[in-house]
Amino acid sequence: MRQTLPTVVIVGGGFGGLNAARALRGAPVQVVLVDRNNYHLFQPLLYQVATAGLEPEQIAKPVRAILRGQKNFDFRMMDVRGVDFARRQLETSAGPLAYDFLVLAPGGETNFFGLEAMERHGFGLKDIPDAITIRNHVLTCFERAMLESDPERRRALLTFVVVGGGPTGVEMAGALSELIRLVLVKDYPRLNIKDVRILLLEATDKLLAAMPERLREAAGRTLWRKWIEVRFSATVADFDGERVRLKSGEVIPAHTVIWAAGVRATPLNAALGLPAARQGRIPVEPTLQVRGHPEVYIIGDAAYHEENGEPLPLVAPVAIQMGKAVARNIARSLRGKPLEPFRYRDQGTLATIGRNAAVAHVFGVNWSGFPAWVMWLVVHIIQLIGFRNKLFVLLNWAWDYFFYERAARLITRE
Ligand SMILES: Cc1cc2nc3c(=O)[nH]c(=O)nc-3n(C[C@H](O)[C@H](O)[C@H](O)COP(=O)(O)OP(=O)(O)OC[C@H]3O[C@@H](n4cnc5c(N)ncnc54)[C@H](O)[C@@H]3O)c2cc1C
Repeated sequence: MRQTLPTVVIVGGGFGGLNAARALRGAPVQVVLVDRNNYHLFQPLLYQVATAGLEPEQIAKPVRAILRGQKNFDFRMMDVRGVDFARRQLETSAGPLAYDFLVLAPGGETNFFGLEAMERHGFGLKDIPDAITIRNHVLTCFERAMLESDPERRRALLTFVVVGGGPTGVEMAGALSELIRLVLVKDYPRLNIKDVRILLLEATDKLLAAMPERLREAAGRTLWRKWIEVRFSATVADFDGERVRLKSGEVIPAHTVIWAAGVRATPLNAALGLPAARQGRIPVEPTLQVRGHPEVYIIGDAAYHEENGEPLPLVAPVAIQMGKAVARNIARSLRGKPLEPFRYRDQGTLATIGRNAAVAHVFGVNWSGFPAWVMWLVVHIIQLIGFRNKLFVLLNWAWDYFFYERAARLITRE
Protein backbone atom coordinates (compact mmCIF):
# COMPACT_ATOMS: atom_id res chain seq x y z
CA MET A 1 0.00 0.00 0.00
CA ARG A 2 1.26 3.51 -0.87
CA GLN A 3 2.11 5.50 2.23
CA THR A 4 0.73 9.06 2.33
CA LEU A 5 3.33 11.70 3.05
CA PRO A 6 2.85 14.24 5.85
CA THR A 7 1.48 17.54 4.53
CA VAL A 8 3.40 20.75 5.21
CA VAL A 9 1.14 23.74 4.60
CA ILE A 10 2.98 27.05 4.15
CA VAL A 11 0.99 30.29 4.40
CA GLY A 12 2.59 33.07 2.35
CA GLY A 13 4.72 32.94 -0.81
CA GLY A 14 6.97 35.82 0.23
CA PHE A 15 10.66 35.57 1.10
CA GLY A 16 10.13 33.24 4.08
CA GLY A 17 7.45 30.93 2.67
CA LEU A 18 9.04 30.54 -0.75
CA ASN A 19 12.43 29.62 0.72
CA ALA A 20 10.84 27.12 3.12
CA ALA A 21 9.00 25.47 0.19
CA ARG A 22 12.17 25.29 -1.91
CA ALA A 23 14.25 23.90 0.93
CA LEU A 24 11.71 21.08 1.43
CA ARG A 25 12.33 19.90 -2.15
CA GLY A 26 13.97 16.61 -1.15
CA ALA A 27 12.07 16.01 2.10
CA PRO A 28 9.56 13.13 2.40
CA VAL A 29 6.59 15.54 2.64
CA GLN A 30 3.88 17.01 0.44
CA VAL A 31 4.26 20.82 0.39
CA VAL A 32 1.17 23.00 -0.10
CA LEU A 33 1.89 26.72 -0.41
CA VAL A 34 -1.06 29.04 0.10
CA ASP A 35 -1.18 32.74 -0.82
CA ARG A 36 -3.90 35.27 -1.56
CA ASN A 37 -1.80 36.41 -4.55
CA ASN A 38 -0.52 34.07 -7.25
CA TYR A 39 2.91 35.74 -7.28
CA HIS A 40 6.06 36.20 -5.23
CA LEU A 41 6.88 39.89 -4.91
CA PHE A 42 10.34 41.43 -4.55
CA GLN A 43 9.28 44.19 -2.16
CA PRO A 44 12.68 45.97 -1.97
CA LEU A 45 12.10 47.32 -5.51
CA LEU A 46 8.44 48.34 -5.03
CA TYR A 47 9.45 51.98 -4.70
CA GLN A 48 10.80 51.84 -8.26
CA VAL A 49 7.36 50.79 -9.52
CA ALA A 50 5.86 53.65 -7.51
CA THR A 51 8.25 56.10 -9.17
CA ALA A 52 7.72 54.81 -12.73
CA GLY A 53 11.14 53.17 -13.00
CA LEU A 54 10.00 49.56 -13.33
CA GLU A 55 6.86 47.69 -14.39
CA PRO A 56 5.20 45.53 -11.68
CA GLU A 57 5.75 42.27 -13.58
CA GLN A 58 9.50 42.92 -13.54
CA ILE A 59 9.67 42.54 -9.76
CA ALA A 60 7.17 39.70 -9.33
CA LYS A 61 6.80 36.15 -10.62
CA PRO A 62 3.97 33.59 -10.38
CA VAL A 63 4.67 31.10 -7.59
CA ARG A 64 3.61 28.21 -9.84
CA ALA A 65 6.26 29.20 -12.38
CA ILE A 66 9.00 29.47 -9.74
CA LEU A 67 8.38 26.02 -8.25
CA ARG A 68 7.11 24.24 -11.36
CA GLY A 69 9.85 21.64 -11.31
CA GLN A 70 9.39 20.64 -7.68
CA LYS A 71 7.54 17.29 -7.57
CA ASN A 72 6.31 17.46 -3.95
CA PHE A 73 4.90 20.98 -4.40
CA ASP A 74 1.39 22.30 -4.88
CA PHE A 75 0.02 25.88 -4.82
CA ARG A 76 -3.43 27.09 -3.75
CA MET A 77 -4.53 30.68 -4.21
CA MET A 78 -6.71 31.51 -1.23
CA ASP A 79 -7.05 33.82 1.71
CA VAL A 80 -6.27 32.32 5.11
CA ARG A 81 -8.61 33.60 7.83
CA GLY A 82 -7.63 31.57 10.86
CA VAL A 83 -6.19 28.35 12.22
CA ASP A 84 -7.96 25.62 14.19
CA PHE A 85 -4.94 24.34 16.11
CA ALA A 86 -6.91 21.51 17.81
CA ARG A 87 -8.13 20.05 14.48
CA ARG A 88 -4.91 20.95 12.66
CA GLN A 89 -6.65 22.76 9.84
CA LEU A 90 -6.67 26.21 8.27
CA GLU A 91 -9.83 28.24 7.79
CA THR A 92 -9.61 29.69 4.30
CA SER A 93 -11.72 31.50 1.71
CA ALA A 94 -12.06 28.12 -0.05
CA GLY A 95 -12.95 26.05 3.04
CA PRO A 96 -10.83 24.09 5.52
CA LEU A 97 -7.34 22.83 4.67
CA ALA A 98 -5.70 20.13 6.85
CA TYR A 99 -2.02 20.08 7.76
CA ASP A 100 0.47 17.91 9.63
CA PHE A 101 3.02 20.72 9.85
CA LEU A 102 2.15 24.40 9.44
CA VAL A 103 4.55 27.21 8.51
CA LEU A 104 3.02 30.65 8.89
CA ALA A 105 4.81 33.32 6.82
CA PRO A 106 2.11 35.94 6.10
CA GLY A 107 4.50 38.91 6.45
CA GLY A 108 3.39 42.38 7.48
CA GLU A 109 1.33 45.40 6.44
CA THR A 110 1.79 49.18 6.64
CA ASN A 111 1.58 50.43 10.23
CA PHE A 112 -0.15 53.82 10.36
CA PHE A 113 0.12 53.81 14.19
CA GLY A 114 -3.62 54.49 14.56
CA LEU A 115 -3.51 57.69 12.46
CA GLU A 116 -6.87 57.16 10.72
CA ALA A 117 -6.58 60.31 8.61
CA MET A 118 -3.27 59.04 7.25
CA GLU A 119 -4.75 55.63 6.49
CA ARG A 120 -7.52 57.37 4.52
CA HIS A 121 -5.54 60.02 2.63
CA GLY A 122 -1.91 58.88 2.76
CA PHE A 123 -0.24 56.15 0.72
CA GLY A 124 1.33 52.99 2.15
CA LEU A 125 3.74 50.92 0.08
CA LYS A 126 3.44 47.18 0.63
CA ASP A 127 2.12 45.55 -2.51
CA ILE A 128 1.80 46.13 -6.28
CA PRO A 129 -1.58 47.96 -6.11
CA ASP A 130 -0.05 50.42 -3.56
CA ALA A 131 2.85 51.16 -5.91
CA ILE A 132 0.56 51.69 -8.93
CA THR A 133 -1.68 53.98 -6.85
CA ILE A 134 1.33 56.13 -5.88
CA ARG A 135 2.58 56.25 -9.49
CA ASN A 136 -0.84 57.30 -10.79
CA HIS A 137 -1.25 59.89 -8.05
CA VAL A 138 2.17 61.52 -8.48
CA LEU A 139 1.77 61.78 -12.27
CA THR A 140 -1.81 63.05 -11.88
CA CYS A 141 -0.57 65.79 -9.52
CA PHE A 142 1.67 67.04 -12.33
CA GLU A 143 -1.21 66.97 -14.84
CA ARG A 144 -3.45 68.85 -12.38
CA ALA A 145 -0.69 71.35 -11.61
CA MET A 146 -0.50 72.14 -15.34
CA LEU A 147 -4.20 73.10 -15.25
CA GLU A 148 -4.07 74.98 -11.95
CA SER A 149 -4.03 78.76 -12.17
CA ASP A 150 -3.75 79.46 -8.43
CA PRO A 151 -0.01 79.43 -7.53
CA GLU A 152 -0.54 78.26 -3.95
CA ARG A 153 -2.73 75.36 -4.96
CA ARG A 154 -0.23 74.50 -7.71
CA ARG A 155 2.64 74.42 -5.18
CA ALA A 156 0.59 72.15 -2.87
CA LEU A 157 0.02 69.76 -5.80
CA LEU A 158 3.77 69.72 -6.37
CA THR A 159 4.72 69.14 -2.73
CA PHE A 160 5.52 65.52 -1.91
CA VAL A 161 5.98 64.39 1.68
CA VAL A 162 7.66 61.10 2.53
CA VAL A 163 7.30 60.04 6.17
CA GLY A 164 9.96 57.79 7.71
CA GLY A 165 13.74 58.03 7.48
CA GLY A 166 14.40 54.28 7.25
CA PRO A 167 15.67 52.61 4.05
CA THR A 168 12.23 52.65 2.35
CA GLY A 169 11.66 56.37 3.04
CA VAL A 170 15.18 57.35 1.97
CA GLU A 171 15.01 55.27 -1.23
CA MET A 172 11.51 56.54 -2.04
CA ALA A 173 12.48 60.21 -1.55
CA GLY A 174 15.64 59.80 -3.68
CA ALA A 175 13.76 58.06 -6.51
CA LEU A 176 10.94 60.62 -6.44
CA SER A 177 13.43 63.46 -6.68
CA GLU A 178 15.14 61.85 -9.70
CA LEU A 179 11.81 61.12 -11.41
CA ILE A 180 10.85 64.78 -11.07
CA ARG A 181 14.17 66.58 -11.54
CA LEU A 182 15.59 64.42 -14.34
CA VAL A 183 12.51 63.20 -16.23
CA LEU A 184 9.25 65.05 -15.50
CA VAL A 185 11.03 68.36 -15.85
CA LYS A 186 11.31 67.50 -19.58
CA ASP A 187 7.63 66.42 -19.84
CA TYR A 188 6.35 69.60 -18.18
CA PRO A 189 8.63 72.40 -19.46
CA ARG A 190 5.99 75.03 -18.61
CA LEU A 191 5.94 74.12 -14.91
CA ASN A 192 8.39 75.96 -12.69
CA ILE A 193 10.64 73.34 -11.08
CA LYS A 194 11.10 75.73 -8.15
CA ASP A 195 7.46 74.99 -7.24
CA VAL A 196 8.38 71.35 -6.55
CA ARG A 197 9.18 70.38 -2.96
CA ILE A 198 10.08 66.97 -1.59
CA LEU A 199 10.21 66.62 2.18
CA LEU A 200 11.46 63.64 4.14
CA LEU A 201 10.05 63.72 7.67
CA GLU A 202 11.69 61.67 10.42
CA ALA A 203 10.30 61.58 13.96
CA THR A 204 13.69 60.87 15.61
CA ASP A 205 17.01 62.66 15.10
CA LYS A 206 18.46 59.99 12.78
CA LEU A 207 18.10 58.70 9.24
CA LEU A 208 18.84 55.01 8.57
CA ALA A 209 19.12 54.24 12.29
CA ALA A 210 20.64 50.77 11.71
CA MET A 211 23.64 52.25 9.83
CA PRO A 212 26.89 53.58 11.34
CA GLU A 213 27.03 57.37 11.89
CA ARG A 214 29.39 58.07 8.98
CA LEU A 215 26.96 56.46 6.52
CA ARG A 216 23.95 58.20 8.06
CA GLU A 217 25.67 61.53 7.51
CA ALA A 218 26.65 60.61 3.94
CA ALA A 219 23.02 59.67 3.21
CA GLY A 220 21.79 62.98 4.66
CA ARG A 221 24.23 65.00 2.51
CA THR A 222 23.20 63.11 -0.64
CA LEU A 223 19.52 63.76 0.04
CA TRP A 224 20.18 67.49 0.39
CA ARG A 225 22.12 67.43 -2.88
CA LYS A 226 19.02 65.94 -4.49
CA TRP A 227 16.93 68.90 -3.24
CA ILE A 228 15.16 66.83 -0.59
CA GLU A 229 14.33 68.76 2.59
CA VAL A 230 15.14 66.42 5.47
CA ARG A 231 13.38 67.29 8.72
CA PHE A 232 14.25 65.63 12.02
CA SER A 233 11.97 65.45 15.11
CA ALA A 234 9.08 65.98 12.69
CA THR A 235 6.05 63.92 13.74
CA VAL A 236 2.91 63.94 11.61
CA ALA A 237 -0.31 64.59 13.57
CA ASP A 238 -2.89 64.86 10.79
CA PHE A 239 -3.40 64.90 7.01
CA ASP A 240 -6.64 65.83 5.24
CA GLY A 241 -5.46 65.14 1.69
CA GLU A 242 -4.40 68.78 1.13
CA ARG A 243 -2.53 69.79 4.29
CA VAL A 244 -0.13 67.92 6.56
CA ARG A 245 -0.16 69.05 10.20
CA LEU A 246 2.89 68.29 12.31
CA LYS A 247 2.84 67.81 16.09
CA SER A 248 4.75 71.10 16.37
CA GLY A 249 1.69 72.87 14.86
CA GLU A 250 3.36 73.57 11.51
CA VAL A 251 1.10 73.06 8.51
CA ILE A 252 2.55 71.98 5.14
CA PRO A 253 0.21 72.32 2.14
CA ALA A 254 0.69 69.05 0.20
CA HIS A 255 -1.51 66.66 -1.74
CA THR A 256 0.81 63.69 -1.35
CA VAL A 257 2.01 61.88 1.74
CA ILE A 258 3.81 58.58 1.30
CA TRP A 259 3.92 56.69 4.58
CA ALA A 260 7.12 54.68 5.00
CA ALA A 261 7.20 54.92 8.79
CA GLY A 262 6.51 51.39 9.86
CA VAL A 263 5.29 47.86 9.39
CA ARG A 264 3.19 45.62 11.62
CA ALA A 265 2.10 42.00 11.36
CA THR A 266 -0.82 41.11 9.05
CA PRO A 267 -4.34 40.75 10.54
CA LEU A 268 -3.93 36.95 10.33
CA ASN A 269 -1.62 37.13 13.37
CA ALA A 270 -4.41 38.66 15.46
CA ALA A 271 -6.86 35.98 14.27
CA LEU A 272 -4.62 33.20 15.62
CA GLY A 273 -5.55 33.92 19.24
CA LEU A 274 -1.90 33.67 20.35
CA PRO A 275 -0.15 36.16 22.64
CA ALA A 276 1.49 38.87 20.52
CA ALA A 277 4.57 41.08 21.05
CA ARG A 278 5.53 44.42 19.47
CA GLN A 279 3.91 45.25 16.09
CA GLY A 280 1.55 42.27 16.53
CA ARG A 281 4.38 39.81 15.85
CA ILE A 282 4.09 36.43 17.56
CA PRO A 283 6.92 35.28 19.85
CA VAL A 284 8.43 31.99 18.74
CA GLU A 285 10.70 29.44 20.41
CA PRO A 286 14.40 29.48 19.38
CA THR A 287 13.48 26.62 17.00
CA LEU A 288 10.83 28.96 15.45
CA GLN A 289 7.98 26.76 16.76
CA VAL A 290 4.92 28.26 18.39
CA ARG A 291 4.80 27.69 22.13
CA GLY A 292 2.40 24.81 22.91
CA HIS A 293 2.03 23.84 19.20
CA PRO A 294 5.24 22.05 18.17
CA GLU A 295 3.91 21.27 14.67
CA VAL A 296 3.39 25.01 13.95
CA TYR A 297 6.21 27.41 12.96
CA ILE A 298 6.07 31.18 12.40
CA ILE A 299 8.73 32.95 10.34
CA GLY A 300 9.65 36.28 8.75
CA ASP A 301 7.93 39.58 9.55
CA ALA A 302 5.10 37.73 11.35
CA ALA A 303 7.46 36.23 13.96
CA TYR A 304 9.00 37.92 17.00
CA HIS A 305 12.41 36.54 17.90
CA GLU A 306 15.17 38.20 19.90
CA GLU A 307 18.90 37.74 19.58
CA ASN A 308 21.32 39.39 22.02
CA GLY A 309 18.35 41.11 23.67
CA GLU A 310 17.22 42.80 20.42
CA PRO A 311 14.30 41.78 18.19
CA LEU A 312 15.35 40.65 14.73
CA PRO A 313 14.64 43.29 12.07
CA LEU A 314 11.81 43.06 9.54
CA VAL A 315 14.04 42.40 6.55
CA ALA A 316 14.20 39.87 3.75
CA PRO A 317 17.38 38.04 4.87
CA VAL A 318 15.77 37.20 8.24
CA ALA A 319 12.72 35.73 6.48
CA ILE A 320 14.88 33.83 3.94
CA GLN A 321 17.14 32.32 6.61
CA MET A 322 14.14 31.43 8.79
CA GLY A 323 12.44 29.72 5.84
CA LYS A 324 15.48 27.51 5.28
CA ALA A 325 15.88 26.82 9.01
CA VAL A 326 12.25 25.72 9.36
CA ALA A 327 12.62 23.29 6.43
CA ARG A 328 15.70 21.79 8.13
CA ASN A 329 13.82 21.44 11.43
CA ILE A 330 10.79 19.78 9.81
CA ALA A 331 13.12 17.29 8.11
CA ARG A 332 14.91 16.67 11.43
CA SER A 333 11.67 16.10 13.31
CA LEU A 334 10.59 13.52 10.67
CA ARG A 335 13.86 11.66 11.33
CA GLY A 336 13.31 11.87 15.09
CA LYS A 337 16.31 14.17 15.56
CA PRO A 338 16.37 17.11 18.01
CA LEU A 339 15.53 20.49 16.42
CA GLU A 340 18.16 23.20 15.96
CA PRO A 341 17.81 26.74 17.34
CA PHE A 342 17.72 29.52 14.73
CA ARG A 343 20.67 31.95 14.52
CA TYR A 344 20.54 34.95 12.22
CA ARG A 345 23.67 35.68 10.14
CA ASP A 346 23.56 39.43 9.56
CA GLN A 347 25.39 40.27 6.33
CA GLY A 348 24.71 44.01 6.55
CA THR A 349 22.40 46.66 5.15
CA LEU A 350 22.26 48.71 1.96
CA ALA A 351 20.22 51.71 0.80
CA THR A 352 20.39 53.63 -2.46
CA ILE A 353 19.55 57.30 -2.86
CA GLY A 354 19.53 57.40 -6.64
CA ARG A 355 22.06 57.27 -9.45
CA ASN A 356 25.67 56.77 -8.30
CA ALA A 357 24.63 57.21 -4.67
CA ALA A 358 24.13 54.58 -1.98
CA VAL A 359 25.33 53.62 1.48
CA ALA A 360 26.26 50.08 2.50
CA HIS A 361 27.39 48.48 5.73
CA VAL A 362 28.38 44.99 4.60
CA PHE A 363 30.37 42.44 6.64
CA GLY A 364 31.36 45.27 8.99
CA VAL A 365 32.80 47.49 6.20
CA ASN A 366 31.32 50.93 5.35
CA TRP A 367 30.82 51.94 1.71
CA SER A 368 29.25 55.06 0.26
CA GLY A 369 28.82 56.79 -3.12
CA PHE A 370 29.50 54.99 -6.41
CA PRO A 371 31.04 51.72 -5.04
CA ALA A 372 28.07 51.27 -2.67
CA TRP A 373 25.69 51.99 -5.55
CA VAL A 374 27.31 49.31 -7.75
CA MET A 375 27.14 46.88 -4.82
CA TRP A 376 23.44 47.72 -4.37
CA LEU A 377 22.76 47.07 -8.08
CA VAL A 378 24.59 43.73 -8.07
CA VAL A 379 22.92 42.50 -4.85
CA HIS A 380 19.43 43.37 -6.10
CA ILE A 381 19.93 41.82 -9.54
CA ILE A 382 21.25 38.60 -7.95
CA GLN A 383 18.33 38.42 -5.51
CA LEU A 384 15.58 39.08 -8.07
CA ILE A 385 13.79 35.87 -8.97
CA GLY A 386 13.85 34.68 -12.58
CA PHE A 387 16.29 35.30 -15.45
CA ARG A 388 13.70 37.29 -17.42
CA ASN A 389 13.15 39.70 -14.52
CA LYS A 390 16.91 40.12 -13.97
CA LEU A 391 17.43 40.87 -17.68
CA PHE A 392 14.54 43.34 -18.03
CA VAL A 393 15.37 45.19 -14.81
CA LEU A 394 19.01 45.50 -15.88
CA LEU A 395 17.98 46.78 -19.34
CA ASN A 396 15.55 49.24 -17.75
CA TRP A 397 18.17 50.57 -15.36
CA ALA A 398 20.75 50.91 -18.14
CA TRP A 399 18.23 52.76 -20.35
CA ASP A 400 17.24 55.13 -17.52
CA TYR A 401 20.88 55.69 -16.58
CA PHE A 402 22.06 56.66 -20.04
CA PHE A 403 18.94 58.40 -21.38
CA TYR A 404 17.52 59.96 -18.17
CA GLU A 405 14.17 58.29 -18.85
CA ARG A 406 11.47 56.42 -16.92
CA ALA A 407 9.61 54.06 -19.22
CA ALA A 408 6.64 53.33 -16.97
CA ARG A 409 5.18 56.80 -16.48
CA LEU A 410 1.64 55.95 -17.52
CA ILE A 411 -1.43 57.05 -15.62
CA THR A 412 -3.63 53.95 -15.64
CA ARG A 413 -7.21 53.55 -14.44
CA GLU A 414 -7.46 51.59 -11.16
C1 LIG B 1 8.59 48.92 0.29
C2 LIG B 1 9.43 47.90 1.00
C3 LIG B 1 10.81 47.91 0.83
C4 LIG B 1 11.60 46.98 1.48
N1 LIG B 1 12.96 47.00 1.27
C5 LIG B 1 13.72 46.05 1.83
C6 LIG B 1 15.12 46.01 1.56
O1 LIG B 1 15.64 46.84 0.82
N2 LIG B 1 15.85 45.01 2.13
C7 LIG B 1 15.28 44.07 2.94
O2 LIG B 1 15.97 43.16 3.40
N3 LIG B 1 13.98 44.10 3.24
C8 LIG B 1 13.18 45.06 2.70
N4 LIG B 1 11.84 45.09 2.98
C9 LIG B 1 11.29 44.12 3.96
C10 LIG B 1 11.08 42.74 3.35
O3 LIG B 1 10.40 42.85 2.12
C11 LIG B 1 10.28 41.90 4.35
O4 LIG B 1 11.01 41.81 5.55
C12 LIG B 1 10.05 40.50 3.79
O5 LIG B 1 9.24 40.57 2.63
C13 LIG B 1 9.37 39.61 4.84
O6 LIG B 1 9.19 38.34 4.29
P1 LIG B 1 7.97 37.44 4.73
O7 LIG B 1 8.13 36.14 4.03
O8 LIG B 1 7.85 37.44 6.20
O9 LIG B 1 6.66 38.19 4.19
P2 LIG B 1 6.30 38.74 2.75
O10 LIG B 1 7.45 38.71 1.84
O11 LIG B 1 5.60 40.03 2.99
O12 LIG B 1 5.24 37.67 2.21
C14 LIG B 1 4.02 37.44 2.83
C15 LIG B 1 3.09 36.72 1.86
O13 LIG B 1 1.96 36.26 2.58
C16 LIG B 1 0.77 36.51 1.84
N5 LIG B 1 -0.33 36.63 2.79
C17 LIG B 1 -0.44 37.51 3.82
N6 LIG B 1 -1.56 37.30 4.53
C18 LIG B 1 -2.18 36.25 3.91
C19 LIG B 1 -3.40 35.57 4.17
N7 LIG B 1 -4.18 35.87 5.20
N8 LIG B 1 -3.77 34.56 3.34
C20 LIG B 1 -2.97 34.22 2.28
N9 LIG B 1 -1.80 34.84 2.00
C21 LIG B 1 -1.41 35.83 2.81
C22 LIG B 1 1.08 37.80 1.08
O14 LIG B 1 0.29 37.90 -0.08
C23 LIG B 1 2.57 37.63 0.76
O15 LIG B 1 2.77 37.00 -0.49
C24 LIG B 1 11.02 46.01 2.34
C25 LIG B 1 9.63 46.00 2.52
C26 LIG B 1 8.84 46.94 1.85
C27 LIG B 1 7.35 46.91 2.03
